[in-house]
Amino acid sequence: MNYTDLAPAYIRAIAPYQPGKPISELERELGITDIVKLASNENPLGASPKAVAAARAALDDVGLYPDGNGYALKDALAQRYGVALDQVVLGNGSNDLLELAARAYLTAGDRAIYSDHAFAVYPLAIQAVGATGISVPAKDFGHDLEGMHAAAVQQDAKLIFIANPNNPTGTFLPGAVLHEFLRALPAQILVVLDEAYNEYLPVECRYDSVSWLCEFPNLIVSRTFSKAYGLASLRVGYALGDAQVMDMINRVRQPFNVNSVAQAAAVEALQDLDFVRRTFDLNLRGMRQITAGLFGLGLEYIPSYGNFVSFRIADAAQVYRRLLELGVIVRPIANYAMPDYLRVSIGLETENEKFLTALKKILGEL
Ligand SMILES: *Cc1c(COP(=O)(O)O)cnc(C)c1O
Repeated sequence: MNYTDLAPAYIRAIAPYQPGKPISELERELGITDIVKLASNENPLGASPKAVAAARAALDDVGLYPDGNGYALKDALAQRYGVALDQVVLGNGSNDLLELAARAYLTAGDRAIYSDHAFAVYPLAIQAVGATGISVPAKDFGHDLEGMHAAAVQQDAKLIFIANPNNPTGTFLPGAVLHEFLRALPAQILVVLDEAYNEYLPVECRYDSVSWLCEFPNLIVSRTFSKAYGLASLRVGYALGDAQVMDMINRVRQPFNVNSVAQAAAVEALQDLDFVRRTFDLNLRGMRQITAGLFGLGLEYIPSYGNFVSFRIADAAQVYRRLLELGVIVRPIANYAMPDYLRVSIGLETENEKFLTALKKILGEL
């Protein structure tokens, strides 16, 4: 029996997601220690101590199912963003919400739109339900909203994924441009606006997408506790949107998709504004450190609005492997049609320094 052929063709066609290499795996493979991981856009400060304390306390009750309705966290989010409780859905990471949006609205034969070089989960979520993903050519590595609008209308697409800022390019669309895009878009086309890096936006770039929800019921805003809040391992994210849309997404959600430890930690993380501020400040300094270092090495990079930056380098795959040998894990992005680039997450000052020193050494060897 061939169990590959037994799966539908659209499942067989899926290229699995390639995560950043875990530190423990590199330790096993090369027998080295003192490894720096700058590969998954994690928070180098870890998480808010208050969130970690809440997670620890929640361990006492792991024998019980979590609140499947996620009341405390949804209530905290509803208050923070000025929306009703039924406009919030929680996810097992925001990745879950991207999939749930696809599952709720797409079926075989439907089409959905995303940009070239956009987050890899979009095509996965679309393909997993047998729908067809259409990738629109990027403009200077960023989303070409006019092209995406045209493709969506021409192809009669039901769903559009937009990452702002985008990963792995770090590119950013100003709020006014996004708003105009939504205004011009036919209301039957849903838009998932993935704002995983929202908290890293410089003050002058911030915009209030949540306030657009009354104007655009076809808008779904997704955010996460994995990045600036530092809870990547606990898997918790949320979507905000129209109550009818959230209702549909809720119907395809696993009843207990967010565990109680994650819920408890996220409630505290949301309130610890000081931690988010420290994260933001550290990232700003680290971004300057790394981009100045790349510039000093004569390397071209794509200006980034997230907690990572992608830079162009000859023999990227080889440089990636050599960096591993020197104890630095970055992210190759050939699977994003960027084979000449590597993506590095912003770390602590010492981690950034270790990366730059290793890179300099490698460039001297080549
Ligand atoms: C990291 C990331 C996410 C989500 O991560 P979760 O841990 O599942 O919340 C979503 N979108 C983009 C663009 C990301 O980079």
